[in-house]
Amino acid sequence: MTLLFDLCHADLSQLRDMGPASLKLMAQMGIQSIAELLLHLPRSYEDRRMILPITQTRPGQKYLIQANILQMQNLPGPRGGCSVLVEDESAQMLLRYFRLKTHQLGFRAESGSSLFYGEVKYNARSGKEMIHPERLRTTTAPGLIAIYPSCEGISQFRFRKWIAQALELLSKDDPYYLYLKQVHVPGFEESIELLNDFKHPAQIALIVEELAAQHLKLLQIRRTQSLALAPNLQLCEQQDHWIRQRLGFQLTAAQERVINEILADLHQSRPMLRLVQGDVGSGKTAVAAVIVAQALAAQWQVALMAPTDLLAEQLLQRMKSWFEPFIPVVFLSGRLKKSERLAAQTLLQTKQPLLAVGTHALFQDDVLFSNLGLIIIDEQHRFGVEQRLALRNKAAAGTEAHVLIMTATPIPRTLSMSLLGDLDQSILDQRPPGRQSIITRLIGLDRIEELCTRLRHHGQNHHRAYWVCPLIEESEVIPAQAAELRFEWLRNELPQLRFGLIHGRLSSEQRQSTMLQFQKGDIDVLVATTVIEVGVDVPEASLMIIENPERLGLAQLHQLRGRVGRGAEQSYCILLYQRPLSSMANERLSLLRQTDDGFALAEADLRLRGPGEILGVRQSGLGQGRIADLERDAYLLDQARERAISLLQTPDNLQTAILNLWTPHAKEYSKA
Ligand code: ADP
Ligand code: MG
Repeated sequence: MTLLFDLCHADLSQLRDMGPASLKLMAQMGIQSIAELLLHLPRSYEDRRMILPITQTRPGQKYLIQANILQMQNLPGPRGGCSVLVEDESAQMLLRYFRLKTHQLGFRAESGSSLFYGEVKYNARSGKEMIHPERLRTTTAPGLIAIYPSCEGISQFRFRKWIAQALELLSKDDPYYLYLKQVHVPGFEESIELLNDFKHPAQIALIVEELAAQHLKLLQIRRTQSLALAPNLQLCEQQDHWIRQRLGFQLTAAQERVINEILADLHQSRPMLRLVQGDVGSGKTAVAAVIVAQALAAQWQVALMAPTDLLAEQLLQRMKSWFEPFIPVVFLSGRLKKSERLAAQTLLQTKQPLLAVGTHALFQDDVLFSNLGLIIIDEQHRFGVEQRLALRNKAAAGTEAHVLIMTATPIPRTLSMSLLGDLDQSILDQRPPGRQSIITRLIGLDRIEELCTRLRHHGQNHHRAYWVCPLIEESEVIPAQAAELRFEWLRNELPQLRFGLIHGRLSSEQRQSTMLQFQKGDIDVLVATTVIEVGVDVPEASLMIIENPERLGLAQLHQLRGRVGRGAEQSYCILLYQRPLSSMANERLSLLRQTDDGFALAEADLRLRGPGEILGVRQSGLGQGRIADLERDAYLLDQARERAISLLQTPDNLQTAILNLWTPHAKEYSKA
C-alpha cells in the first residue's frame, strides 16, 4: 500500500508523457515528486457540466457549447488571428482566435461536431462571439474541471492527465486519498462556488494539514530548544541601580514587567527566545539597556542588532551615552574600513564583557565572539524561522546565546500564536508619561497649496517636518522617483525652507548625513520614502505628512506617525490622500484618526486587509505554503494549532513524515 508520504520520493519520470523538458519545467514550479504533484492543487475550477444552446448563452460568462464547424478564416492585418463560424441547433456564432492561424488550431472544418468552452462576448458588428475557446474532445466527460497553476509549455490537459495517473499510484486507504481525489477531480454535484473560494471541506482539510505541519515545526524547535543549554544569570542589584541612574527617568510599570519577564528567562539555563512587542515610543531601548547592564555584570558579551545602518548608528549613540566609559561599546557594520573592522573583531576575541552594536554584519561568519551570552535584535520585522535559527550558533561552545527580539509591529494574537509559536512574548502596552497624543487629519491632495502654507509657517517657526511619499509599486525605483519629484516640487514652491531627501537608492552615507542634518536642524523638511519607517528618533519633528496613505497598511501608517510626537511640541499627522477614496480606505484612515493604539490598528488591519500586510508575512515566508494562503486562510489557524499539538504526541517517525511532506526544508529543522 503506497501512502502519500512514500510518494515524496517517487520520481515524476515514471508518469507517461513526462519527458526531460517537462521535468525541468515542473522542477521550476517546485514539483519534483509524485507527492508534490498531488499537492499541487487547482487554483480554480470551470463549470463544464452543461452544454448550452448558443441562444441561451450570455455575454460575460464562460460556456460549454456543442456545435458544427461551418467555416474557418484567417484574418488579414498584422495582428492576424483567425475566426471560426460554428452552428448548433439554435444559432450560429463566431469563435475568435488571436495570433493563431487556422492551421495552428488543431482542428479542421471537417472535424464535425465539437465541444467548445470559452467566454462569450458581445461584438457590435457580429453579435455574440466566443473568445479563444478551448476545443474539447467529444469524449471528454462533462463536469467540473480543475485549472492548475501552470507555466508556458505545460498545458492544462497534460496536468490533468498526470494528476490522474498520480492518483492511481496512491493507495485508496491513504488518509489523504479522498481529499485529493475530491479536490483534483470533483464530483458532478460539488459546489463550484465553494471550490473556487477554497472553502470545500476537502480543501479545508488539506489547508489545515499544511498549517498544522508548519506549526508542528515550531513546536518541535521549541522542544529541542528546551533541551539546549545557555549561561544563566544571577541578578546584580548594584548594577541594576547603576543603570537606572544612568537612564535618568523612572521606568513605566509595563517596562518593569517586561524586564522581569526577561530576567526570569535569563535566570534559567535554557536559551531564551523572547519577542517584545511595544508600540513606537513605548521605550523598548530602555528595557534593552537594563537587560544589557545585567548581562555585562554577568561578564557576558552582548550583541545588539538593528536592521539598517541608520538605526544601528542611532542605537550606538544611545548605548554609548549610557555605558561608556565603563564598558566598551563596539560598532560593526558593513561600512567599516577593514582596519576598523579588524580592531573590532580583535576586541570581541578577548573574553572581556562588551556590547557590540551593529547591523547584520554582526552575524557574518568571520565575526567571532568569545563569550556571547545575549543577542538583542531591535525593530525586527522578519520573523522567519531560518533567521531565528541562524543566530543561535554564535555563542560559546556547548551553549547557545539568549535571544531577545524587539518589534514595534504589533501582531494580533490570533496570528502570533500560530506564526511565532516558538517564541515567548512580552508586551509593552504603556507609554512613558508626558507624551501628548498626535492629532491626525485627512486632507485631499487637491488642498496641497493650503498645506504648503502651513508647512511654511511650521518651518519658519523652527519646527521640523517629515514628508513621506510611499511605495507606489513593488520596485524601489518608483517610490524613489516619487520622493525625488516631490522634493523638487517642494523646493520650488517653498524656497524659504531647507529640504532634505532620503530614499532607498541613496548610499547609506548620503542617507546618514542627511539624517544628521535633519537631527541638527540644518534641514526643515525631510522628504522620504518609507525607509524612515522604523526607529528614527528626532524629537524636534512635530509634523508628519504622508502622501497617498490609502496605499499603506494601518500598521505601517501607525509606524510612520510614531516618528513625531516624541518631543514637547503638539504634533500632527496629515494624511494627504488622493480622491476618490474607496469606502474601505476611508474606513481605514478614519480608524487611524480615532485611535493610536497599535494593537487595535493591527487587529483592524487583519480584519480589513488580511494578515499579509501586517508583519511582512510575505517576506518572511511564514504561513505561505503550497496550499495555505494566510490572506485567505487565517481563520483556520486555531484549528491547525490544535492539530499540531496533537501531532506532537504522535511517534517521531510520523512527525518526520508529515514535515517531509509539507515543509520543504524539514531536515534542517529537525537538526536544529
Ligand atoms: P521604542 O524603541 O520603543 O520606539 P525608545 O526606546 O526609542 O522607544 O523610547 C522613546 C523615547 O522615550 C526615548 O527618547 C526614550 O529615552 C524615552 N523613554 C523611554 N522610557 C521612558 C520612561 N520610562 N520615561 C520617560 N522617557 C522614556
Ligand atoms: Mg526603538
